[in-house]
Amino acid sequence: MKVLISNDDGFYSPGIWKAAEALKPIAEVFVCCPDREQSGVGTCLTLHAPIRADSRAPLVEGVTAYAVEGTPADSVILALESLVGPVDLVVSGINNGANMGEDVLVSGTCGAALQGYVRGYNAIAISIVSLHPQHYGPTVSLLRALAEEVVSGDLAKPLFLNVNVPDRAAGSLSGIEITHMGRRSYTEVVKEGDDGKRKWYWIARSKPVHHESEGADVSAVLAGRVSITPLQTVLTNHEALPGLRSVVKDLARALAPAEGPSAAD
Ligand code: MN
Repeated sequence: MKVLISNDDGFYSPGIWKAAEALKPIAEVFVCCPDREQSGVGTCLTLHAPIRADSRAPLVEGVTAYAVEGTPADSVILALESLVGPVDLVVSGINNGANMGEDVLVSGTCGAALQGYVRGYNAIAISIVSLHPQHYGPTVSLLRALAEEVVSGDLAKPLFLNVNVPDRAAGSLSGIEITHMGRRSYTEVVKEGDDGKRKWYWIARSKPVHHESEGADVSAVLAGRVSITPLQTVLTNHEALPGLRSVVKDLARALAPAEGPSAAD
């Protein structure tokens, strides 16, 4: 098995190397991730500048490692398309902090995993629900089991799994729940100031607002369970389709040639 590990917490974040340790006994492991923290950059790609990648000494022996001057998504693209080539699985994590609900859409952790998934590879985004995780043990064991299941088991492929593990010691987790993506939104606030020459603005995050619902990632984690959500990239709002179709005729009038001499383009 060949596994690529990335994430958005930076090359020296412990989570990446815990993931590498977890997978080394069962796989050939490559690490390719940003050289510094990039949380919240989501699916961001660097398209207007060259990207440098340095081969670096790994923190886990036997792992091939690269630090990239770019985003998590850049790192995965560079690895899969050039530095490493095809793999059996892309792992993004182990991340410091949850990635649940709408947060998935701005998450650098999920943004990295997504680049694997859209290229047809299995992808696992895996997070511990704490900015300073204390208990890596359960997540490490689960990641190894999940990697084997996803790569060698009978599940439909490719799979994109978003895993969130409460920061609890082994034995004090309340099980695993297969969930749907719930609602968990941050209300960003903008702080303003003046540096003497120009005004500055700083987007600051406040506490997330949870919207609990049966079977949602957020609810499972709040109940002390590991949440595993299968994700896909189809974002179409099917409920809105009939209503929109019913106004197409009205909208189409805007395309009709306008009357009168002044309207010619
Ligand atoms: Mn992160």
